Amino acid sequence: MAENGKTHNAACHCGAVTFRVRLTDGLETARRCSCSYCQMRGAVAVSANLDGIEFLTGEDKLSTYAFNTKTAQHYFCSVCGIYTHHQRRSNPHQFGINVACLEGLGPFDFPEVVVYDGVNHPTDLQSGPLVAGVLRFSKA
Ligand SMILES: [Zn+2]
Repeated sequence: MAENGKTHNAACHCGAVTFRVRLTDGLETARRCSCSYCQMRGAVAVSANLDGIEFLTGEDKLSTYAFNTKTAQHYFCSVCGIYTHHQRRSNPHQFGINVACLEGLGPFDFPEVVVYDGVNHPTDLQSGPLVAGVLRFSKA
């Protein structure tokens, strides 16, 4: 897809943490997750490989949060609290990136977002639905 290979500039809210990120499949991977943490966080995430992030400033300002199996590592800016990215439990070789941190983009640029069934996590079940549904909302 056209976005492939494109590098996005990204930052947290306060600007302490800035990074460049190369996405695995452009914005095609945008999704929400229904796990207990993501429900509260409410962010739309896109995929990047672990070597797809290059921090420019503030990597030392990042804090991490982990729960349950502690596989997923959720990173957020310790100054402004904004979630920047997380190392995935479903694929530890990938990061999920907060689309709202990408320059010029936000969650409202994704009127239809796949909802990943994080409550019934595939690594908790032998098999299970990966996709809980599609969340639609209107910008109007
Ligand atoms: Zn910040």
